[in-house]
Amino acid sequence: MSQTPKRNAGHGIPKKGRSCGSCHLCCRELDIESKPGYSTRLDTGEDIAKPAGKDCRFLGTHGCTIYEVRPLVCREFACDWLLGQKGFGPDDTPESLGYIGVRGVNWHFAKPA
Ligand code: SF4
Ligand code: SF4
Repeated sequence: MSQTPKRNAGHGIPKKGRSCGSCHLCCRELDIESKPGYSTRLDTGEDIAKPAGKDCRFLGTHGCTIYEVRPLVCREFACDWLLGQKGFGPDDTPESLGYIGVRGVNWHFAKPA
């Protein structure tokens, strides 16, 4: 059983002035669940579903290697910092906090050394 927040759950429009930059923590730390209607598939039919804490196989050194054709689940995702949710100030990025907020659930991960 897992209470890991699903990347699928975090759709939204980023707050003005905020962008992911070099952060790609949600491509590593969050569970991407394959379910009908969740749009985790590429046009080729390949499913990017993966467990939490494991890099997406399309994650490269500089970010997503299939950015232009990434599935809807990736295009629509925004963490609580990116959305500017209550409690996430401008400097409270996932990298600085050590956790990713997904609709009120804070998912803590091991900070890179
Ligand atoms: S964790 Fe948030 S800031 Fe980082 S890449 Fe994902 S949506 Fe962007
Ligand atoms: S397909 Fe790209 S944006 Fe989506 S999880 Fe994988 S690396 Fe991240």
